[in-house]
Amino acid sequence: MTAVVALSAIVGLIVGSFANVCVYRIPRRESVMFPGSHCPACHHAIAVYDNIPLFSWLMLAGKCRHCRAPISWRYPLLELVMSVSWGLLAWHFGAVPELVVALCLFFLLWVLSFIDLETGLLPNVLTYPGIALGLFFSWWLGNWQDALIGAIAGYGIFWLIARLFLRLTGREGMGYGDFKLLAMLGAFMGWQALPFIIFASSVVGTFAGLIILLLARQGLRAEIPFGPYLAAAGMVWFVWGSEVLAWYLGLAGMNT
Ligand SMILES: [Zn+2]
Repeated sequence: MTAVVALSAIVGLIVGSFANVCVYRIPRRESVMFPGSHCPACHHAIAVYDNIPLFSWLMLAGKCRHCRAPISWRYPLLELVMSVSWGLLAWHFGAVPELVVALCLFFLLWVLSFIDLETGLLPNVLTYPGIALGLFFSWWLGNWQDALIGAIAGYGIFWLIARLFLRLTGREGMGYGDFKLLAMLGAFMGWQALPFIIFASSVVGTFAGLIILLLARQGLRAEIPFGPYLAAAGMVWFVWGSEVLAWYLGLAGMNT
């Protein structure tokens, strides 16, 4: 058990390093495989000893060895959250098939969240394979029907809300990337996850959005990416969905 947790956390560090490559290159439409890592400022290749997750950034004090250009704190942060979340998932689920699904889902959700925060995009090259992967895993675990309904309903519900929003306000409230992300979450977790994900992400997103608007003193039309809230709600449901459902049914039961 501890071996699985340690292995997950260590592999999570390396995967976090790869996740950073994805976050930087995918919105720029660059290959995530070739060429190897290089400094975006001076294009100097990054040596293996300068590419160790977490430690290299700390050793270099967040600066390129060659040109001293600052390296974003997003690099160590993403490596850390990937490692910690993968370790915690292994600890929560243990060595069962669901763990593989959890690790893949969390990788996709962290990468998508960071890309959305930096660029306001949820690229199709991640959401489409994500939907396919979610359907495949659900078929593997034996509930592809719920997953298929979840994927279609996830896209459809947001499409409908966006349509109504456009009718009422005359402007776009959500991006198509959000529809596809909700479809992906539905494919991974089944349609049962959708009410919670929509509710939780909307409530947290609205409050966080208001705070950000107040702090930034921007106009109401400022773009705030919704993807990270969807991703966070999806993560909560994946880990504690059955508890949330039991709690809700318990509340409903008390009132009848
Ligand atoms: Zn450099």
